[in-house]
Amino acid sequence: HKEKVEAKLGHTLSLMTAVCYYFSDVEKNINTPAIIELKMLEETKKQSHSDGLTGLFNRRYFDDALQGEMNRVQRYDGCFSVFFIDLDNFKKLNDTYGHQAGDLTLKVVADILQKMKRTEDTACRYGGEELVLILPETEKMNALVIAERIRKKVEETGLEFEGKTFNVTLSGGIASYPADGKEAHELVHAADVALYQAKESGRNRIFIHDFEKRHY
Ligand code: GH3
Ligand code: MG
Ligand code: MG
Repeated sequence: HKEKVEAKLGHTLSLMTAVCYYFSDVEKNINTPAIIELKMLEETKKQSHSDGLTGLFNRRYFDDALQGEMNRVQRYDGCFSVFFIDLDNFKKLNDTYGHQAGDLTLKVVADILQKMKRTEDTACRYGGEELVLILPETEKMNALVIAERIRKKVEETGLEFEGKTFNVTLSGGIASYPADGKEAHELVHAADVALYQAKESGRNRIFIHDFEKRHY
């Protein structure tokens, strides 16, 4: 056990040395060890939160942010919504235009989400071609307005890869606290149910978690 700990420590130290060397070499103006360590910490933190392909926050960050939002609103009886996105027929897009075209599509949609969300909203990549937006202090119907705007923008955006032009659409599901769930997993499930209904109804639609009403 002691050897393992020492080996780990050794790795950590050589990593620290390498990164310190990098910063002192690349950023010649920075030479205070404390600043170098702070920079390292910031950089590592940022990387551990973000998704490499899209630049959105990653799944791990989403889980924490959702729980954080939950804890926050519970303190003062607030509300918030989550908007789950799943790209339509993405497998077919990959098969038709290639995996790189698929990657580009993901980046473009992520950029649209990033630009159209409000400052206080958090945009994450939940999984493969699934993205999610956390909308603080947002009632279901207001979330629907924002989601609908994003859906439309994605639908209207022309994509191009290696001379070929194409389009992509998205389906979405919205769930809101506290109506659709008081625990994080309940909200995620509720949004997933709505998303499933949006897919079932023909795609390129947003459904709110309400079994009776359809919105698109
Ligand atoms: P649906 O409209 O029902 O969502 O159909 P779909 O084809 O989008 O659904 P499915 O879940 O069957 O396929 C998702 C595809 O997304 C399969 C996978 O290869 C692709 N995918 C997931 N992550 C990435 C990625 O990072 N890049 C690319 N290019 N494709 C990805
Ligand atoms: Mg999917
Ligand atoms: Mg899909």
